[in-house]
Amino acid sequence: MALIIHKDKCVGCGVCVESCPFNALTIVERLAIVEGSACTMCGACAEEGVCPFEAIEMVKATEANPDVNLADYKNVWVFAEQKKGEIQSVVYELLGKGRELATTRGQEVWAILLGKNVSDKAQDLIHRGADKVVVVEDDSLENFEDGIYSKIITRLCKKYKPEIVLTGATTVGRSLIPRVAVQIGTGLTADCTGLEIDKESGLLRQTRPAFGGNIMATILCPNHRPQMSTVRHKVMPEAQTDTSRVGEIITEKILDEDGFTRSRVLEVVEALEDTVNITEADIIVSGGRGMKGSENFELLHDLAKAVGGAVGASRASIDEGWIPYSHQVGQTGKTVNPKVYIACGISGQIQHLIGMQSADIIIAINKDPDAPMMKIATYALCGDLFEIVPEMIKQLK
Ligand SMILES: Cc1cc2nc3c(=O)[nH]c(=O)nc-3n(C[C@H](O)[C@H](O)[C@H](O)COP(=O)(O)OP(=O)(O)OC[C@H]3O[C@@H](n4cnc5c(N)ncnc54)[C@H](O)[C@@H]3O)c2cc1C
Repeated sequence: MALIIHKDKCVGCGVCVESCPFNALTIVERLAIVEGSACTMCGACAEEGVCPFEAIEMVKATEANPDVNLADYKNVWVFAEQKKGEIQSVVYELLGKGRELATTRGQEVWAILLGKNVSDKAQDLIHRGADKVVVVEDDSLENFEDGIYSKIITRLCKKYKPEIVLTGATTVGRSLIPRVAVQIGTGLTADCTGLEIDKESGLLRQTRPAFGGNIMATILCPNHRPQMSTVRHKVMPEAQTDTSRVGEIITEKILDEDGFTRSRVLEVVEALEDTVNITEADIIVSGGRGMKGSENFELLHDLAKAVGGAVGASRASIDEGWIPYSHQVGQTGKTVNPKVYIACGISGQIQHLIGMQSADIIIAINKDPDAPMMKIATYALCGDLFEIVPEMIKQLK
């Protein structure tokens, strides 16, 4: 369902504010505004007799939005996620794909950059393929806060009308973009691993794993705009840097109405266990249930040290409590794209393969020659990992 406030009918009387059990409505400049993260779509405000001017309506998400003319929407937007002022590498992957989609449609790629003192990064985004960068800078945007960020992006979407909005399927992207989709009343496909576009209609074919990764589903958003997707990290190549590219930087201000939010970030504390960034590693040594215990992961740390890599794991090892979740590779863990992936005692179920199968070289170490991981491996070493791994460390040293 989507909630629509008809601007031509709303007079800002405030009756609807009282009707909402979740305090999700407020009046700004004589217009009812929905706080997306608080609204549960219960429909209380849209019930008959609540709004004396019949300005609030609930519509089925599959019904065409009467306020939307699809032809008004153009260009591909990429949310330029930054952390402490550093653009996250998934953004460059999205710019690469965004460029491809926009070129097919004969349109532009825009990057949307929010933060504190981040405008110096706009040029970098242009060098990586953006034609325009919209920059919103404010002290209150220093740390990601889904309420304010989603309100600003919703407002910008309504103003500039992009055809497509892409964000990384990161913690930030997963929290941010559903809120934007609800506030706009459009569809969202999460965790995409493939994107293609129909040149004529502009329909985005959004592909993602479904039913536990056993099938790939392709999802369309035919009646609403923008078409929104979160895209998994490391499944698409990064856009290359071209310092000769030129583009336009558009500066937008934060408005009072953007500040209406229920939460405030007081402090950001880095999780100590989350220091392993396996998504950036060139070599990953990963362990599964075949490791038989947490103490044996020392062996993998030694091998990782010998090859200059990071340690990953299957979900079975995480569930056993042998290693923290930040190391998990796969559908419900991280997607990795290293040059070399060494799978030790991992059978290679589809949910694991989804997260690592694009590695350039896969080395599988397994007692079972018929394990799926052995079938897809570049080099399949059949035998006991407790003999093979120590020998590898010895040889490497
Ligand atoms: C919705 C859903 C999401 C999931 N998400 C993920 C995910 O993100 N990541 C993930 O990994 N899994 C995920 N899973 C779980 C997945 O289906 C498998 O259960 C899991 O990957 C199995 O882990 P494993 O290969 O370590 O264990 P097993 O399948 O038990 O394999 C252990 C392997 O070790 C080998 N072995 C045993 N001893 C030795 C030895 N001494 N030397 C060499 N080899 C040995 C065995 O031959 C076997 O092949 C998900 C499942 C579901 C339903």
